[in-house]
Amino acid sequence: MSSGATALEVDVAIVGGGMVGASLAVALAGTQRSLLLLESVPFGTDAQPSFDERTTALGNASRRIFEGLAVWPAIAAEAAAIRTIHVSEAGRFGCARLEAREQGVEAFGYVAANRRIGAALWQKLAAQGQLRLRVPAHAQEVEIGAADVRFAVAGGSGQPEPVRARLVVAADGAHSQIRAAAGIAADVEDYGQVAVVANVAADRAHQGCAFERFTREGPLAVLPLFDGRLAVIWACHPAHAAELLALGEADYLARLQRQFGWRAGRFTAASRRGSYPLKLTRAAATTGERTVLIGNAAQALHPVAGQGFNLGLRDAAMLAELLARDSAEDPGAATLLDTFSAWRARDRAGVVRFTDGLVKLFADRRPGAALLRNLGLLMFDLAPPAKSALARVSLGFGGPAPRLARGLPVRHA
Ligand SMILES: Cc1cc2nc3c(=O)[nH]c(=O)nc-3n(C[C@H](O)[C@H](O)[C@H](O)COP(=O)(O)OP(=O)(O)OC[C@H]3O[C@@H](n4cnc5c(N)ncnc54)[C@H](O)[C@@H]3O)c2cc1C
Repeated sequence: MSSGATALEVDVAIVGGGMVGASLAVALAGTQRSLLLLESVPFGTDAQPSFDERTTALGNASRRIFEGLAVWPAIAAEAAAIRTIHVSEAGRFGCARLEAREQGVEAFGYVAANRRIGAALWQKLAAQGQLRLRVPAHAQEVEIGAADVRFAVAGGSGQPEPVRARLVVAADGAHSQIRAAAGIAADVEDYGQVAVVANVAADRAHQGCAFERFTREGPLAVLPLFDGRLAVIWACHPAHAAELLALGEADYLARLQRQFGWRAGRFTAASRRGSYPLKLTRAAATTGERTVLIGNAAQALHPVAGQGFNLGLRDAAMLAELLARDSAEDPGAATLLDTFSAWRARDRAGVVRFTDGLVKLFADRRPGAALLRNLGLLMFDLAPPAKSALARVSLGFGGPAPRLARGLPVRHA
């Protein structure tokens, strides 16, 4: 590592200021921990991969976390509530409909543009005087040791800046550099699907209805947006995705209409389309020596049930809670890291199993599988306990919930 200059010493270095890393930084900003946040692509630029043109369905647990971080009002101003969820399979008879009112909640969740979420988080970060922000910047020559983590921050015009942190948090996404530096392996399973995303206008009001339609090639989700439009996330074979991306607006809308049907009205206009290859990436462990993995660095999921960010935000909320508990405690202590992985294990395993299982169940083309699925959807619609179970998943719980997700401040008074 570069020597000479005195190293900047911090308790916690967060590498990656995307959806999850920026949320963690906001959660920790009010604590006694000294903090460094590194992000390689500035917020607000077209190349920013986390706060891009996508939209995110936020569960109620995520809403509570954002309320606790005082960023919810800025997000809610441009979020659409999901009051109904409609699940169906293309070409089959069964369908299920869930009403938030029947589950005793105001909404199953809220759909917000990633850029809006980013604006709320980055505005908060900019106002945090004690936070060291390095953007655009990345970590070089990362050395993880028993006593500390050393690296050099590169990216600015000057010399790389040496840093010593007592804990490094990998929030640098599915291809995490920090995960690799910590020697933590990742298991990658390619679903052989690409999500083509776009926002579309329709001639009928959405009334807060979110649709999940399973097609032969993958799930097609249509979510309500605050401006009356709909977010379309269409998972399909890579060759089909390439075709959808190449189509003109009118042809794309006609294809979408044919596949989705008329339950949301007639589609009249579409935004620019974007695409995301879909894989399940799972780190072998969520902690290593003086290292914690959160968000996509720990697990990147298929977007089928809109769980990836919600899960990652609970990672961030739980880590913030443990780090805020006792500022005298070594933030990289093995006991703290073991507690983190133990407390996150059930939620993580449950959400990964649920999401992966849903993709595979609806991809099963064996004779009889479709019939079972449709009977399942029909019975599901008739059976309130099954509906309540799914509604609870949609609300984002499983395993011990972070204080923020329960509506409590990150720190005990
Ligand atoms: C099509 C689609 C739809 C989705 N919809 C939903 C949904 O409705 N609900 C939901 O809960 N989830 C959803 N997800 C999942 C969600 O997008 C991810 O869970 C979320 O982006 C994870 O955020 P992250 O911050 O962990 O990682 P990322 O979003 O990958 O961000 C990583 C950040 O780290 C930065 N970075 C990378 N490497 C470095 C480095 N070496 N140094 C410094 N910085 C670095 C990147 O620039 C980036 O800002 C969806 C995903 C897809 C693909």
